[in-house]
Amino acid sequence: MKKNLTFILFLTIAFSTLSAQKKNNPKLVVGIVVDQMRYDYLIRFSDKYGENGFKKLLKKGYNLENAHYNYIPTYTAVGHSSIFTGTTPTNHGIVGNNWYDTFLHKSIYCIDDNRFETVGSDSKEGQKSPYRLQTTTVTDQLHLAQNMKGKTIGIAIKDRSAVLPAGHTANAAYWFEGGNSGKWITSSFYMNKLPKWVQSFNKNGKANDYLNQSWTTYYDIKTYTESIEDNNPYEGLFKGEKKPIFPHDLSRLRKSNGNYNLLKTVPFGNSITTDFAEAAILGENLGQDEIVDFLTISYSSTDYVGHKYGVDSKEIEDTYIRMDKEIERLLNFLDSKVGKDAYTLFLTADHAAAQTPNYLKKLKVPANYFEDAAFLKFVKKLAFDKFGSDNLIENISNYQIFLNKKTIKELNLNLRSIENYIADEIIAFDNVYKSVTAHSLQNTFYRSGLLSLVQRGYNQKFSGDIIYVPNPSTLGSGYKKTGTSHGTGYSYDTHVPMIFYGFGINNGFTKEYHPIIDIAPTVSNLLQIEFPNGNTGSIIKEVLK
Ligand code: ZN
Ligand code: ZN
Ligand code: ZN
Repeated sequence: MKKNLTFILFLTIAFSTLSAQKKNNPKLVVGIVVDQMRYDYLIRFSDKYGENGFKKLLKKGYNLENAHYNYIPTYTAVGHSSIFTGTTPTNHGIVGNNWYDTFLHKSIYCIDDNRFETVGSDSKEGQKSPYRLQTTTVTDQLHLAQNMKGKTIGIAIKDRSAVLPAGHTANAAYWFEGGNSGKWITSSFYMNKLPKWVQSFNKNGKANDYLNQSWTTYYDIKTYTESIEDNNPYEGLFKGEKKPIFPHDLSRLRKSNGNYNLLKTVPFGNSITTDFAEAAILGENLGQDEIVDFLTISYSSTDYVGHKYGVDSKEIEDTYIRMDKEIERLLNFLDSKVGKDAYTLFLTADHAAAQTPNYLKKLKVPANYFEDAAFLKFVKKLAFDKFGSDNLIENISNYQIFLNKKTIKELNLNLRSIENYIADEIIAFDNVYKSVTAHSLQNTFYRSGLLSLVQRGYNQKFSGDIIYVPNPSTLGSGYKKTGTSHGTGYSYDTHVPMIFYGFGINNGFTKEYHPIIDIAPTVSNLLQIEFPNGNTGSIIKEVLK
């Protein structure tokens, strides 16, 4: 009897300590990435935002006004990887969306993996995995800390934006298949059959409903004074449209614009993402017990709209007015299903975007387009004239030159002298602003400036032999006339929102500089778990209670 009492006493103490510890954690962490969201969108369109979307996050959460990417290139896969691994391409190995693989001698896509099959469709769109991501994510670390209990789910229209944040140990990553499918799919890397809730979501007809309408402005277009005129020369067109103006009749355009692909490229792609995230929270019972779950949501459609219409368009303004409504809807849903103070949320972007060069040019701001094809010719001629071989340049992509190591060895040439020569000479080419060799990046520590961003983006195994940086406000030749892009280390590409909100988060703001890689260690510290294994970020102390 006495023994029993002692045992019960022991259990009581053990459980009370345990529950006291568990109460220090949120039930759910929600990591939101808004693809291509510039920091200034928070300010520029704020008169049009409601009180319960972005403004609620700013008012009740912690806002980092000066958060930046600290590496080049600022592309989608790289951004998502860096947010969740707390480090840069140097360590996590995702050096682009696509890059030239020097071992396979071909261009690869960051998450392609044909060892796996599509789950949820007959296509090959699901043959993906995060295996090229070399380090762990904060989502992995949470799983490891909880002995694989708790659930991690990644959701996005874009496959890479679902797969990379959710990490290696994810329970699932889901993305939206366009074409004639219009379904949320996954990879056999995660499972062999879609859960019931995904199957029934795919039958609910929402994708169709969103496309069988016109995209009109949320408010009267006359009130959109924060953007330049509709029908300006810097906007792209949907196939079948004569002018880039509202209303965009989606029901008519879907046929000529890849059917469900069209949904990805309009704000309703963000709406169906919220719909699906809500279904995931219910279907997987996320945030319903003391074990911490992690949901990553990436809103991709903002990026497509930006690429097509540019930063200053009416379409972008309307897309962010609608994005604000999605945030409001999601917060309300989390409050009611998980509980008001039971979850922690952060919101950021994977990169920002440049203003359309032709628009800047008209305003007398220096801006340009980089002539990729002419540059390739120029570099090949340089190498031939100096070293006598037309086989020295193997590939040029992502502002990197890959030399043909095999030919260099066969001809008994010196790799370093070729690197140095080309890096010196390409400065003469229009809109090449800086250039640096791989060897310099290995031997010199760049403390600040653009070359420090190049260095953090440089991976000895996966990067090229000469890296160059285009002039400010210069886009690749793919964007000759309209729309915009991103990828550089200039502020317009690096400056993004970074807002923390909810359980364990202080209220306030800072104007101090913080790199985006600080998110993962800050969340790790909040959860009292180990950092991702390649982490180079720091805890942002003032964010945490
Ligand atoms: Zn992106
Ligand atoms: Zn327009
Ligand atoms: Zn993009």
